[in-house]
Amino acid sequence: MPDEFQLMIKDKMNESNYHLLTDLMPQQVWTANPDGRINYVNKNTIEYFGRSFDEIIGNGWQEFIHPDDLFNCIEVWTRSLSTGEPYEIEFRLQAKDGVYYWHLGRATPAIKHSEIIQWFGTNTLIESHKQNEAKKDEFISMASHELKTPLTSLKGYLQILSMRVKSDAQNLNFVEKALMQITRLEGLTNNLLDVSKISADKLILNKTEFEFKDLITRCVDIVGHSQNTHTINIKANETIAFDGDLFRLEQVVINFLTNAIKYSPNAKEIIVSSTVQSDGIVVCVEDFGIGIEPEHLEKLFDRFYRIDNANSKFEGLGLGLYIASTIIKSHNGEFWIDSEVNKGSKFYFRLPLAENKSLEPETDSKTFYKDKRFEIDIHPANEILEISWIGYQDEESITTGTQQVMSFLRSNKFSKLLNDNSRILGNWSEASSVLTPEVHQELFASGLRYLAWVLPAHKFGQLAAFKALNNMDSSDSSAANNLITIEFFEGREEAENWLNSFN
Ligand code: ADP
Repeated sequence: MPDEFQLMIKDKMNESNYHLLTDLMPQQVWTANPDGRINYVNKNTIEYFGRSFDEIIGNGWQEFIHPDDLFNCIEVWTRSLSTGEPYEIEFRLQAKDGVYYWHLGRATPAIKHSEIIQWFGTNTLIESHKQNEAKKDEFISMASHELKTPLTSLKGYLQILSMRVKSDAQNLNFVEKALMQITRLEGLTNNLLDVSKISADKLILNKTEFEFKDLITRCVDIVGHSQNTHTINIKANETIAFDGDLFRLEQVVINFLTNAIKYSPNAKEIIVSSTVQSDGIVVCVEDFGIGIEPEHLEKLFDRFYRIDNANSKFEGLGLGLYIASTIIKSHNGEFWIDSEVNKGSKFYFRLPLAENKSLEPETDSKTFYKDKRFEIDIHPANEILEISWIGYQDEESITTGTQQVMSFLRSNKFSKLLNDNSRILGNWSEASSVLTPEVHQELFASGLRYLAWVLPAHKFGQLAAFKALNNMDSSDSSAANNLITIEFFEGREEAENWLNSFN
């Protein structure tokens, strides 16, 4: 409850009642100053660590965190401190017996007159939950391995049988149906096996150089022949050599194609394209099916995530896209979706090609800058600096672009920025993590006061922009950070009008 209510409770209770209450709680309870230093821990915390109150408070608690969790923990805590957002993390804490046990750490800020005055936190023991998770992963791994061997031999026997009953149409029909079901079971088992490999960090890529065009043709052949409801048309298929895991990338394309068929029961066509754009291969699988509501888009690539489609008339485990996203990410690629409910969906992925030498930027360091990923211009009449991002972005391009913006703001003494994302392609949400509250502060220090942000056209790009702002922005609670007035727009003109309204 990040509001004045908690403080009111604390004010109303006398100090000893407050401590009695927290001492009775089964968790570790702690409070911290706005700068993050722990200033109180309850009895349970003292007992768990077997150290004195004074040894635990201050920054001493860091020494109890498992070295493998420390970096992430500090990063998440620092972020919460600067944004005022609730803190939540799973980490291991060393107990007085020397053993590390898993905890869920959570904290919310207490706010008075829009200022954080105190953080209230708890650490809850989740060791048995973690052990159960590990057992579940182990079970999935064991069960899928155990299922695989009998399935393979069953399939082999059925294939022999299908040859033996070739001339007996009725029996052949039964055997073929059995084979189809075995193939489905095999697909499910392979998915479970992959998920357990991913959990154990054992999804190893076997890279070779191959012709990407052949991969697309082969996947279309395989999926095309396995059904008779849809025609798969290849709209574009450029010839390009690619260095990657052929088998795994086929798995991604086959997953996109089978989903496209499965989720467009009333349509007849699927369109596939594979094109080379800005140093990368972009693959798109388009269907004219049920589509996806925007609120599901971001979560579709999570493990076991499925949309509850009309009482789940579509079968599946919700693993295909999760596995696909892991494969794409391990090739340093990205994925995104364009979709409209009842019209259809376009599933994309992009794989970067080996680094091309980036062109030298053209710039006079004050009035214009131009390279492959962004262009900067100034509008002296209304003192607006404009950055227009082009194509696919990564951490490097966003960092360089932001630094250039700062330098141009300073040399022109401008306070208004038009940040045009309408030409951004793909999903740049991971790259946007470079936009931190510190960058917000630096932009402010460079003179920026008004930022008009023109959104990308497609939904996934818009989600990336919101996420970027979230990373960079502070909540109202941290007034010192909340420095630049930022507004999103769908069109460039509205954005410019808005900036012009400030003098
Ligand atoms: P599965 O299809 O086995 O449930 P996936 O991970 O492949 O698992 O897909 C996850 C979810 O994404 C599906 O349950 C479905 O709700 C949604 N989905 C995937 N592809 C499409 C598509 N082409 N059109 C509409 N929804 C889709």
